[in-house]
Amino acid sequence: MSDQVVEADIVIIGSGAGGGEAAKLLSKHFNVVIVEEGPHRTSNDFKMKESIAYPELYQDSGARLTVDGAIKILQGKSVGGSTTVNWTSSFRTPQETLLHWNKEFGIHTLTQDSLLSHFLRIEDEYGITPWDGEPNLNNQLMANGMSKLGIRHGVIPRNVKGCLNLGYCGMGCPTNAKQSTLINAIPRALENGAKLFSQFRVERLIWKNDKIVEAIAYSVTPTGKIEENKKTLTLKAQHFLLCGGGINTPILLMKSDLPDPYFNIGNRTFLHPVTVSLALFNQKVEAYQGAPQSVYSDQFLWPEDDSLGFKIEAPPIHPALTSSLINQHGSEASEMMKRFSHSQGMIALGRDGFHEQAPGGKIVMTSNGRFGLDYPWNDYLTNGYKKALLTMASIQFEAGARSVYPLHRFARSFERLGEVKSFLDSCSVDRYDLQIVSAHVMGGAAMGSDEKNSVVDNDGRFHHMSNLFIFDGSLFPTSLGVNPTESILSFSSLLTHKLIERIK
Ligand SMILES: Cc1cc2nc3c(=O)[nH]c(=O)nc-3n(C[C@H](O)[C@H](O)[C@H](O)COP(=O)(O)OP(=O)(O)OC[C@H]3O[C@@H](n4cnc5c(N)ncnc54)[C@H](O)[C@@H]3O)c2cc1C
Ligand code: SF4
Repeated sequence: MSDQVVEADIVIIGSGAGGGEAAKLLSKHFNVVIVEEGPHRTSNDFKMKESIAYPELYQDSGARLTVDGAIKILQGKSVGGSTTVNWTSSFRTPQETLLHWNKEFGIHTLTQDSLLSHFLRIEDEYGITPWDGEPNLNNQLMANGMSKLGIRHGVIPRNVKGCLNLGYCGMGCPTNAKQSTLINAIPRALENGAKLFSQFRVERLIWKNDKIVEAIAYSVTPTGKIEENKKTLTLKAQHFLLCGGGINTPILLMKSDLPDPYFNIGNRTFLHPVTVSLALFNQKVEAYQGAPQSVYSDQFLWPEDDSLGFKIEAPPIHPALTSSLINQHGSEASEMMKRFSHSQGMIALGRDGFHEQAPGGKIVMTSNGRFGLDYPWNDYLTNGYKKALLTMASIQFEAGARSVYPLHRFARSFERLGEVKSFLDSCSVDRYDLQIVSAHVMGGAAMGSDEKNSVVDNDGRFHHMSNLFIFDGSLFPTSLGVNPTESILSFSSLLTHKLIERIK
């Protein structure tokens, strides 16, 4: 293919949760072009191998970090975006979150009432129902410990149809059971006549007065490098939808020098930062098999005191990802990996963005001229995560764990809860010490009614352009407190219907 100029009614940048769903709906009425920087991979390419999946299906080949290197960030990059690799946990947006957004940011379009029909349609089309199979042992052990301690927990709804319970959702579902936008929304959009350009990254939006006039994209390799003999795609349209996901969407706005009189672009980027507790059991747990997350607890999500709220889940544990997190070396690391199939894992996801001491991060330009996420850390966050680690250890011991290893640079495997507590009481608070990871990047182009503290208005329209809309997870003004995909699909559905009314 040589350089090309493509014209459409609407150009959609990014094919993940927000972009995919918008493409499906808009393509019924308009001439739509979707441009996606990642490759178009399908179930035939998904081999249940981390070494194959991470380089092509993840941003920065799975090695994305905050600018200080302290937090590991997992984010998708292929057709279907992060939905191609996510773990299928599906929740509606909590009422507490929507009320907070209304009160603090004047958001009146996204309410429980206005969203209801969209949640219902999305749940129907994406097969979202509480998981009715047996939980895998990883989740069952967590549920056992919670039951013994009287901790409320429930079954996670999943977006699957005919799931074979393999447990490799994070490497792309090889059976097409997972209802990602890759297999649900994008094929519908293509049937409706939409055109998809994969392996093209939009590098700049060109604007004049209050309008985007074109988007310039360059061809990239499957792992995301601009090709040596790059091809240029010039995309012209009446309207542009930016759905690149958190971090990527604000970076494109910044690279395009879009007006930002109040310096809001890239601010308020949230991660649901995750801390991990690994436990060793006598029996084999094989936490890499079976539906990855099927049990959760929200008992600690909305605490009555001022502390950080967190949600608890039991993630899939695969060797490459785990070894990159445990931060052990030599014989200790090798011992841990030998006992890998006996390991049980729990995660606590912090609800950032609701408290002044949990303000999230911001996109900055680093000294090498690249943009990245700066996510400052403080004692409030550390104390929240210490509490989460102790809570998870108590659940794991109650479930019969032989030892528990809270992920912290100086931790070891502890055989008693008291030892975990003593360690956490005395351990350092440096942000590099807690091995924090995130798979939920949100915010950076916050919605709000006041342009002084937001980037898009109640319709998802960029405040300073009449034809630029943002319908992805970057429009959240805080994190959610639940896994974000169902919210992004539903917000995109609601905002797309409003857009259709506006321009039809
Ligand atoms: C390993 C993992 C597990 C997860 N598990 C869950 C879960 O169980 N439940 C849940 O609810 N959520 C989960 N998530 C998170 C969830 O998938 C994301 O929050 C959601 O998909 C984000 O939707 P989005 O539309 O904002 O962005 P994405 O779905 O990430 O899509 C953005 C797309 O835009 C493309 N793009 C970006 N910039 C450009 C550009 N300049 N030009 C062209 N294309 C561009 C990207 O390559 C990407 O494909 C998980 C995520 C990961 C990585
Ligand atoms: S657990 Fe289900 S959805 Fe996940 S990879 Fe296996 S078959 Fe696909």
